[in-house]
Amino acid sequence: MNAFLQTPIEFLKGVGPQRAELLRKELGIYSYHDLLSHFPFRYVDRSVYLPIAMAARELQAPVQIRGRLTSLEISGKGRHQRLSGRLQDASGIIELLWFQGIKWIRPSLKLNVEYQVYGKIKMYGNKCTIAHPEIQEMEQTDPNKGLKPVYSSTEKLGSKGLHSRGIEKLLTALIPQIERKIPENLPLDLIRDLNLLSREEALRQIHYPKNQELINRASYRLKFEELFFLQLELLLRKQVSLKKNEGFVFDEVGALFMQFYEEHLPFELTSAQKRVIREIRADCKQGFHMNRLVQGDVGSGKTIVALLCMLIAVGNGYQAALMAPTEILAQQHFESLSELSQGLPIEIRKLSGSSKSAERKEILSDLAEGKLQILVGTHALIEDRVRFQNLGLVVIDEQHRFGVAQRAKLWKKNKRPPHVLVMTATPIPRTLAMTLYGDLDISVIDELPPGRKPITTKHFFEKDRLSVFGFMKREIAKGRQVYVVYPLIAESETLDYNNLQEGFEAISRSFPLPEYQVSIVHGQMKSEVKEFEMKRFVEGQTHIMVATTVIEVGVNVPNASVMVIESAERFGLSQLHQLRGRVGRGAEQSYCMLMTGNKLSKESKKRLETMVKTQDGFEIAEVDLELRGPGDLMGTQQSGDLDLKIANLATDGPLVALARQKARLILEDDPELIQEKNLFLREHLAQQLKGKPNWSKIS
Ligand code: ADP
Ligand code: MG
Repeated sequence: MNAFLQTPIEFLKGVGPQRAELLRKELGIYSYHDLLSHFPFRYVDRSVYLPIAMAARELQAPVQIRGRLTSLEISGKGRHQRLSGRLQDASGIIELLWFQGIKWIRPSLKLNVEYQVYGKIKMYGNKCTIAHPEIQEMEQTDPNKGLKPVYSSTEKLGSKGLHSRGIEKLLTALIPQIERKIPENLPLDLIRDLNLLSREEALRQIHYPKNQELINRASYRLKFEELFFLQLELLLRKQVSLKKNEGFVFDEVGALFMQFYEEHLPFELTSAQKRVIREIRADCKQGFHMNRLVQGDVGSGKTIVALLCMLIAVGNGYQAALMAPTEILAQQHFESLSELSQGLPIEIRKLSGSSKSAERKEILSDLAEGKLQILVGTHALIEDRVRFQNLGLVVIDEQHRFGVAQRAKLWKKNKRPPHVLVMTATPIPRTLAMTLYGDLDISVIDELPPGRKPITTKHFFEKDRLSVFGFMKREIAKGRQVYVVYPLIAESETLDYNNLQEGFEAISRSFPLPEYQVSIVHGQMKSEVKEFEMKRFVEGQTHIMVATTVIEVGVNVPNASVMVIESAERFGLSQLHQLRGRVGRGAEQSYCMLMTGNKLSKESKKRLETMVKTQDGFEIAEVDLELRGPGDLMGTQQSGDLDLKIANLATDGPLVALARQKARLILEDDPELIQEKNLFLREHLAQQLKGKPNWSKIS
């Protein structure tokens, strides 16, 4: 980065050592560059003032008013000292208050002079007041500068005069200095093609805008720049990992695959399943390492895709592993794979934390000798003692529970890394996926197997409980089974546990023995008990499964046709969607009943409405992204990448796609960024990558 941008912030007029320290601590602003990257989050039109009488009704909202100071008075002593001023216009009077900095504020204010005042209206006693307003003499406001930027700040900064207006002042001092000091960091032809403002002009207009149109153009340019460098970084990582890591070559589909396909395939594959298998197949025969994410909504048929790919690996003389996040899921996968592959000349085993030691020993030695071709399991698979003879493919189900570090661990199982196929049922909006999994290739199973009936989803309140129970009884009478799910959130585990117990008791009363059998499963149970209860339900011995979200992922009971979700307002959208995916797996019409309390936040309402309205996982993911933002959506994992200053992955989708496309074109032409015209791209990237872990080494 150039010297000007790196200038420490205390060199700026108006920033002494004290303010500099605060800017560093509170906002991470160390240099001119950082200050210039502290973008306004909105703009106020300076030419619009509310009459004071009207402003007084806008409690808590920031308002802009103008008026004369008609009195100024200091009262109280020491810590209780305060300064109050009366500001008057033709419509009314409002009180301005200062509790801090009185020493230097008082002398700067003049009676009977007209001021522009900006701040939040609050009631103080029975008076309308604005505390610590931004205040400026009308005379000194710049009538040409119609739009006033509003910056985020903190209370501490505010007390040192660096609320939004104070930060604006700093930028007003800095902006005139930036002329010809801001090096361009995008290729000139790209700037021309997209008709972008120069970097310098964009920075000027974002902080010191002439008009709304220029704000829009400035923000477009800066967002594009941010997304472009993010995508460039991701694509480079991917490129590095491809080059560094040769992969196993699966030359042919193999006899095993063919035998299965011709003799054992239980149904016609959907065209989406076929396409995804072709994509994987193409990856695995090229000689480089595959790192692919398969997204497919619940029930889209990922298991069979996993099996077919593992059969290709085995047919080519390699071993394959399938890793699931929980014991129950590993067990289900093991069962369905064993069933599907019946009659094939292969050995499939399951390894988990609860495997008995004799069994474990046998599995480990068979694995090392290559007698065992497919291993299914939980995290136990990545323990150091697990040695494969030649692991060629790893399928990871429900990726969101496996971090990058765990994926990396898998790699150490071989000299060459096995191909990695990650399967997730959490649909992620495409633009977000591009960014979060920018270093993975993505396949999407965007089609459900034929004949699925849409699940009827309805929202109920507590008062409807009797009719909900009545409905459950009628379904059970038809031979169906029912899930009743309670939330379980770490912070209030005991409370939730009590809710679950109470719910279980209420259900046991309303659904008495011996007519009704009820299972219960929750996280505080021993895993044997849990599995026993689960098994009873899976086998149809119990009618109702009362559970926490442990059943959220993967569990398959086709005969279950009703999903009742208690306190549905407390679940996130993707969780609700996952839960609903547990029903509608058989031939029967299925139902999802969302029970909530009467008081619902706006967001909860939106979540429930979305659930009732659609069953499309991608549509749901888009709403989820809007509601929660990308960071929350993915948890903390990799969210560092999402620390964007101006772009927003939720709302700037098209720009993400554009940035990725442009970054790709540049890398296709100049993969190492060594051409003259791309040198500053390289430099800018080097700066951006400073202090980040070396990603090329992991995934
Ligand atoms: P998920 O993607 O949620 O893991 P599964 O692999 O468990 O989905 O498949 C859900 C159900 O759909 C299973 O019962 C499976 O046998 C069935 N299935 C998968 N693919 C097809 C298909 N092409 N045609 C009919 N049924 C299918
Ligand atoms: Mg599955």
